[in-house]
Parts: sequence; C-alpha cells; structure tokens
Amino acid sequence: MRRVLILGGTAEARALAAELSGELSGGLSAELSAELSDCGVHVVSSLAGRVSNPRLPVGEVREGGFGGPDGLAAWLAAERIDALVDATHPFAARMTASAAEASARTGVPLLVLRRPGWREGPGDTWQRVPSLHAAAARLSEAAARPGGGPVRVFLTTGRRSLPVFTGLAGVWLLARSVDPPEPPIPDHVHVLLDRGPYTVEGERALIREHRLDVLVTKDSGGPMTTAKLVAARELGLPVIMVDRPPLPAGVRLVETAAEAAAWAQG
Ligand code: NAP
Repeated sequence: MRRVLILGGTAEARALAAELSGELSGGLSAELSAELSDCGVHVVSSLAGRVSNPRLPVGEVREGGFGGPDGLAAWLAAERIDALVDATHPFAARMTASAAEASARTGVPLLVLRRPGWREGPGDTWQRVPSLHAAAARLSEAAARPGGGPVRVFLTTGRRSLPVFTGLAGVWLLARSVDPPEPPIPDHVHVLLDRGPYTVEGERALIREHRLDVLVTKDSGGPMTTAKLVAARELGLPVIMVDRPPLPAGVRLVETAAEAAAWAQG
C-alpha cells in the first residue's frame, strides 16, 4: 500500500487528507472500503502540535516536530513513506526547507501544496514588504512623521511575531491571534484572541471600534482571512503586506488539493 505523509496545519492539508481518504471510502460500505484500502493509499497527517485544540484532518494524525531534516529523513525511512506533500502554511519556511532537504537525502518525492497569495485590486492601498522587520520599519517611519500622533495598528501576523512590533515608539497595537502571545504584554498592546473565518462586517466594526490606521498582515492567501482586506479597502485603510518567504530551489509546486491528490496517488 502506498504511504503518503502530509505536512499539515492548513485548510489545504485537511482538504487533501479528506480527498485521499474519500478516494478510498467515499460512499462505499466499510467492508468494501477496507478491501480497497489494501491496494490504495495510507495517509498520515503531521501537525506541529503548537496550537491548542487544532482543527484535525481525517485519518491518522501525528503531532510534534521531527527533529530537523535528519529526524524527518529518519522518520520517512522508518515509516516507509512513498510520497511527501508539504501542505504547511506559506510562512512555515523551516518545515518546508526541512522537507526539501529530507526529500533530497532519502529520494522520497516531495510536492509543495500552497494556496495562491493575495493580489492587490482596485481600491486597495497596499505596501508590499519582504519581512516582518521591514513591516515594523514602515510603522516606525509613519509614527515618526511630524505632526502624526500614535499609529494604531491592526496586527494579524501571528502571536510569535509580536516581539518584532512591541518596541516601536508611537505605535499602538491591536494584535489578533488564535492562542495568547507569550507574556509580558506591554500596555500599548491590546490582544484579541480569535480564530477565523471572519466576516467583512465584523472586521469593519473592529477597525472602527479601535480607530485603526493601518493593517499589517502576512500574504497568507486563502478565503478564511480575506474579510480584513475587503474591510480595509472599503474604509480606505492602508495595508502593509508581508511577502512570502521563497520556496527552496527546484521544488515542485501545486495550488489545489485536487492536484496534490492526483500526484500523491502516483
Ligand atoms: P516553521 O517555523 O516552519 O517550523 C518550525 C518547526 O516546527 C519545524 O522545524 C518543525 O520542527 C516543526 N513543524 C512545523 N510544521 C510541522 C508539521 N506540520 N508537522 C511536524 N512538525 C512541524 O513552522 P511554523 O510557522 O511554526 O508553523 C507551524 C505549524 O503551524 C505548521 O504546521 C503550519 O502549517 C501551521 N501554521 C503556520 C502559520 C504561520 O503563519 N507560520 C499559520 C497557520 C498555520 P522539526 O524541525 O523538529 O521537525
């Protein structure tokens, strides 16, 4: 039986696990499904294990890091994995680099599944920056402008990025994340714990309630968190968009779970 490892933590990874499982069991009796699975695909999904109460994919799940490329290579060999799909978040660059290295070392073929990034449209005012630190520098520049009061920032780049922004003079932060950031939280930071999907109406209300001046976001792509971009456009709010880290050279890339499922079945 073909064994596939999905590096997950995203909606696309869950869709892929469902698609591959559906290939085996959709609409079939348990008996027939079990019989078919003897010559089908066995899927294992892997999660980093950092988010409390994560959304789980269907099928077998393992949690926790592998111990770098060496650990992943050893795991692929021990579990006799035939194909590896990296469906992690576009900003999970360490895991993706590790997957590319382990694949090169073991010969287990690797496919990267990434949802497309967001595109600026009419009415948007985006500044693209290459990193979180570059985004912080833009905020500092805005706060230092003569006559400008404190800059009120809607920060949606994830709890672990908060320290990049907390030391900026003249910057107030509404930091939204799924899990709480590490304490201590300075006075000029208001933490909002929430998990998408969000609505345009809700995002608009949030921007108005907190009198926000600018949105800072990573170019995660996907439909779950686009409402903030629509609300920013409607309210004329500028957006600082952090570009994705580059993929390792030579990796094969697809954008949909259906394409990845076709590849993973060999
Ligand atoms: P990262 O910085 O690239 O990874 C750090 C380490 O965490 C990796 O070296 C690996 O440890 C472990 N790891 C990451 N993803 C893993 C997975 N799917 N299975 C097993 N171990 C994993 O990744 P991250 O940005 O912290 O993201 C962690 C997880 O959250 C990923 O599954 C990602 O899809 C999801 N996520 C991330 C974001 C984001 O903005 N970065 C947003 C939503 C969801 P070892 O080196 O020990 O193997």
